[in-house]
Amino acid sequence: MGVPTSMELAGQGISVVVFDRNPSPGQGQNKSAIGGIRATFSDPGKIRVCQQSIDILSSWEEKYGDDIGWQRGGYCFPAYTEEIERQLKDLLVTQQEHGLNINWVDVDKVKELAPGINPDGLRGGTFSPDDGNVSPLRTINAAYKQAVSRGVDFHFDEEVLEILTEKGKINGVRTTNGEYHSPVVIIAAGADARGFGVPLGIDIPVFPDTHEAGITEPVKHFFTPMIVDLRERPGSGNFYFYQNYESQIVFSLTPDPQIWDENRLTTSSYLPMVARRLIEVIPRLKNIRIRRTWRGLYPMTPDGIPIVDRVREISGLYLAVGLCGQGLMLGPGIAKNIASIIMTGKPVISDEVFREFTYYRNYEGAEEILK
Ligand SMILES: Cc1cc2nc3c(=O)[nH]c(=O)nc-3n(C[C@H](O)[C@H](O)[C@H](O)COP(=O)(O)OP(=O)(O)OC[C@H]3O[C@@H](n4cnc5c(N)ncnc54)[C@H](O)[C@@H]3O)c2cc1C
Repeated sequence: MGVPTSMELAGQGISVVVFDRNPSPGQGQNKSAIGGIRATFSDPGKIRVCQQSIDILSSWEEKYGDDIGWQRGGYCFPAYTEEIERQLKDLLVTQQEHGLNINWVDVDKVKELAPGINPDGLRGGTFSPDDGNVSPLRTINAAYKQAVSRGVDFHFDEEVLEILTEKGKINGVRTTNGEYHSPVVIIAAGADARGFGVPLGIDIPVFPDTHEAGITEPVKHFFTPMIVDLRERPGSGNFYFYQNYESQIVFSLTPDPQIWDENRLTTSSYLPMVARRLIEVIPRLKNIRIRRTWRGLYPMTPDGIPIVDRVREISGLYLAVGLCGQGLMLGPGIAKNIASIIMTGKPVISDEVFREFTYYRNYEGAEEILK
């Protein structure tokens, strides 16, 4: 979140310093992301912002020359039960109302999109061809390069210890190297955001929620969409995977119940669980070798929606936190909007829709099935 935001602000002539306690960009949770980029949500704010992100990411190479591994492969949600078919079809109504390019497709089309998909009980599915995927590592480094070329001053290996205020206004930050003064501070500290609020007397409801992922050896490219299996299985909810620009299959699942923790060590239970799910959907993958797995943190909010706002109680303080499991896909679009809020007081998309991300909401409810 910090890197694209700094890039946007510097592009508008603002002098920006980014402090990161890690030694290089993207070493927080960004490198845990598997690379999925979609706009097919059920909340209008996420839809609009991710459409902006897709515009930015899909034209990145043409505009800036760096290959970020973008593939417009779409997302396909196969339905294996009547209940899931109904949920997906209900959701389609809202999604199409918001202008998303998503449709119900029959069994033959799902088989064409995912050759070798298990046909037992398959009823069809949804397909949104405009969604895609990128390499999180290439993307963050390409954005970092652009930010630096626009004059952003990155201070790596420098931890922010305190946000400085004076008479209800932002005055800067104190880091492991000293004090820096500025009338504006943006907190974009991912899963660590909550700790910054305590001394300021504001509660930032962001909680670390662990998720694991993995990657296989490369095999001949044979499918393009992200496949999302919504069936619940012991220990997991959704399971999803795609074949990346280097032809490796990258996969993850949603633990059920959620695991509220900061522990990033991989577990021994994940691989047997995820391997079973992969073979259940594409049986021909039974001999594929898995190269590695990893574990990272979703910076979760209670309602699964990010917090992107100006803090009313402290003039000059902004929040771009709680990106949950979608920071990579929301990041570029949110960066444009937060930069615009700082510069003009208004987001790029309509105020009414952007209000979905306000800090001053009740955090009740959760998004429909597409977590
Ligand atoms: C397994 C897994 C798969 C995922 N897959 C996807 C996906 O396919 N698509 C997608 O969109 N998202 C995905 N995500 C979610 C995504 O990784 C996160 O939403 C995103 O990284 C959050 O971005 P962020 O900038 O808020 O946090 P981070 O990327 O964690 O960045 C926060 C930064 O703040 C720095 N920081 C924190 N505290 C301090 C301090 N006191 N001083 C200085 N620096 C500090 C950290 O060092 C870090 O660099 C996935 C996550 C996981 C775990």
